[in-house]
Order: sequence, then C-alpha cells, then structure tokens
Amino acid sequence: MILSYVYKLRPSGSQSAKMQSWLDMLRATYNWCLADRIETYHYSFIQGAYCSLRTKAEAYPLTCCIVKNGATGNPWKNNGKKRNAGTIQDAALVDLKAARPWYKSIDSDVLQRNIARLNTAYKNFFDGRGFPAFKNRSNFRSFEYKPGRVKLKGILVYLPKIGWMRFFNSRPIPDGFAVRSVTIRRRTDGWFISVRLEDKSIPELMPRPTSEVKTAVGLDMGLTKLVHCSDGSDIPNPRFATNQKTKRTLSIRQRRVSRTKKGSRKRKKRAAEVAKLHSKVSNRRNAHQWQVANKLVKKADAVVVEDLNIQGMVRRCKPKPDEGTGCFLPNGQSAKRGLNRSILDASWGELINKIQYAAEKSGKVLLKVNPRDTSRECSACGHIDKANRDRERFICTRCGHFDHADKQAARNIKRKAVTEYGLKLVTKKVRRDSAEPKQLTLFETPSVELTTSKGRKHDTRKGKRCVPGNLGRQLELFSQDMWDVSSAESPFF
Ligand SMILES: [Zn+2]
Repeated sequence: MILSYVYKLRPSGSQSAKMQSWLDMLRATYNWCLADRIETYHYSFIQGAYCSLRTKAEAYPLTCCIVKNGATGNPWKNNGKKRNAGTIQDAALVDLKAARPWYKSIDSDVLQRNIARLNTAYKNFFDGRGFPAFKNRSNFRSFEYKPGRVKLKGILVYLPKIGWMRFFNSRPIPDGFAVRSVTIRRRTDGWFISVRLEDKSIPELMPRPTSEVKTAVGLDMGLTKLVHCSDGSDIPNPRFATNQKTKRTLSIRQRRVSRTKKGSRKRKKRAAEVAKLHSKVSNRRNAHQWQVANKLVKKADAVVVEDLNIQGMVRRCKPKPDEGTGCFLPNGQSAKRGLNRSILDASWGELINKIQYAAEKSGKVLLKVNPRDTSRECSACGHIDKANRDRERFICTRCGHFDHADKQAARNIKRKAVTEYGLKLVTKKVRRDSAEPKQLTLFETPSVELTTSKGRKHDTRKGKRCVPGNLGRQLELFSQDMWDVSSAESPFF
C-alpha cells in the first residue's frame, strides 16, 4: 500500500535560500530542455541530411529519433540502439555541469528527476493531455528526490546536499512503511515535504465489489446545502471562499495590491497577503471536506453520487453578437459569474475524490450514476417532467407526490444505482417499539420535527379532520403561499 504524508519543514535561513536557488536553476534547465525538444522537432521538417549547428551531431530526419520525442545530441547508443530524448538530455547533464559549475551544488538525483518530469509531461501529452508548458516562478515550485535518499529521524530530516533540517512531525509514520520518493514543495506559507510511504506486505486499497453491497446512500450535491442524503439528512454548505467576510477581506487585500507601485517590494508583501488568504481558504475547505467524507462513508456500504460535468457547468455563456451593429448583446454571463464562483467554492469534484478515498480505505465503494433527470423524476411514480420542480419544491404533475426537491433527487440517485449496478439491498426491519435511531451530530441541521415538542404537535391536530396521506402535506405547502392556515377563510379546515 502507498500512502502520502505531508509535513511542514522548518528550514534555516541559509537552507531556504539554497532551496530557492535550486528551484531557479532547475526551472532554467527544465525550460531549456523543453525548448530543445521543440526545436529538434522542427528540424524533422528539413529535407535531406544535415547536422545540428549547436552540437555538430549528425542527424538524418528519416532515420533518427527526432521525429517524435528526440533531442539534440547523438541519437545512437554504442550498441547501435536508438536513444530517446529523455536519455539524451539526461546524459547531457554532465556537459551542463562542466559549462556551469554552480549546477554541481544541486544533488544529481534531483537534476535527473527534473528531466524525468519533462518526460512525464511529454508522456501525458502523447496520452492526449495538454502540451508541456514553459514554467515561471509561480508554477515551478517543487523538486524531487529519488527513493531511498532521504532519511527521517525524530524531528529531523536529512536532505542530500542540503543537510539535516528540522520539520514538524505532525503524524507518525506507521510501522512497516518505508520512505520512497520525496518531494520538496514551496507554498505561500513555507516549505513542505511530501513523503511517499510504501509497505509491500499490505495490499492496495480495493473498493467493495457491488455484489456485496447491502446498504446504499444517495448524495445530491448542491449549493444551499452542500450535500443532501437519501436518508433525509443534509450537510450545510460553509461557503469558505464566497461568504461575506472572506469576500470583503479579499477585496480589501486586492485593492491594497493595486494601490502599490508595480515591481515594488511593498507590492510583493501585499500580494503575499492575498495569497495567504487563498491558502487559508483552501486549507479550511480541505479539512472540512475530509470530515464530511468520513462522515458520509459511515452511512452505508455504497455511496452513490452523480457523475457531474463540473467544467461544463462553469463554462462561460456564449457571446451573443448583434447582427446589425456587430456589438455584443447581454448574454447573462455577469449573472452567471457569481454562480460559477459558488460552484467552484463548493468544489464537489474534490469532495467526491475524498469520499472515494475514504470509502476504499474503509472497505466500501463509491458509485457514480448518470445525472440525467435525477431532479425531474418522481420517486413515487417515475413520471419525468420539467414542471415537476419548482425551485426547492417537488410536486409531481401526475401523481401529486410532494417532496423537498434535493432530497427527492438524492433518493432518485440511490434508486438509479440499484438499477444500473444491480445492487441487492437489504432493508432493515425496525420494530415499532424500538428506540429512535441516533440523531443529530456535528453537521446535521435539526429538522422541524425534532425542534418542536412532540406533545404540542399532537394537541394541535386533535379533533381536526385530517386530510389523508401525502395530500395533507401538499395542501400545507400551497397554504404557505396563498393563505394563512390558521385563518378562518381557509377552505380546508
Ligand atoms: Zn409521481
């Protein structure tokens, strides 16, 4: 099993200066190597034999490796085999150190891992992801050691070529786990070390097979409440980035940045304050999401969520050009911007990832279902209609079933999982005289039934003619808008 733990480092002044200078040098080689690969790719379009002017190495476009992922240098190994771009650039590190002796201060493993990082970026590109980008200071903030080089001892960590450094040993490494590769990362609030731990005797985490699932809970992600569960409970949305207080603080700090002179030391300080707020928000969100995920996983064997396309949801509205003048008409984007921010602040995707991890860790499973019609379908009769839903309320236009729209959706999600995955759920039988199941923990909001005393509720109903079944709740719903229930004009009482 592989675990990944993150600790905060406590480098001395000279140590952090050294790590920063490493980052700058590594970034320079990374960008150089990337430019090198792009350039050699373009050589491949030159017809005929030629030699590279810089390295004097012979290169024949039809025979050498530069077509796909080549680089300058001798494309052949001594045994006659082709070398790929990664190995060529790796071997060129010797020349780099000869030409620029200050690169000798960097651990050679770190330099090699840096080239490997570009290799990975290219591999991702050939797998269909984006083309590797040139890095600047803000997006090149880490370097990596190979497995077995870094030692941890008490509150000290040994980093080759940097030395012993203190760190906050916030969680112990479990027994039997060995330290594998280690990444040092600079964040706005300091330096961090992420340690990959491996124990080969423990098997990888495996989700529970769907045939063994006995209970399931459906989750509907939302904004007014972060999660609605199919068992009727919900988890409020804390809105870490989009609440009034954070928005105000952010705008104040951003304004302070804009009032400073560009390139000044003060501007850097002010910008750091903005970055600090952002990192604080994301730390809070992360911590909260872990709590929520662990709590949700305890509810059932299988947690069912919608397979949402969040990127599509936050896409900008299409521009609407005016045909006569060529100007642009209002397209609703400014109104959507606030909604998009709220969606990104809720970060459902991250939460789902955490739920998945928590589920697998406790031997449960996360299932994803198609989100189509989950909030339009009636869970009582299966009738699908857009008009069923009126914001928070759900009223079936065919059978008259009334429910809270999001809870209804959560139940539909659970039902979908049962049909799509063929779950065989076991319903628990509750004796009528048994005690009420446990109620109210940290995140649950008290429902109306729990907050009003039971005796009183019973008294008000006494002696009144009751409307049977679900219809009674429906009538209550309409009466909220149209007339006061207690007034004498009400035709229902
Ligand atoms: Zn219905």
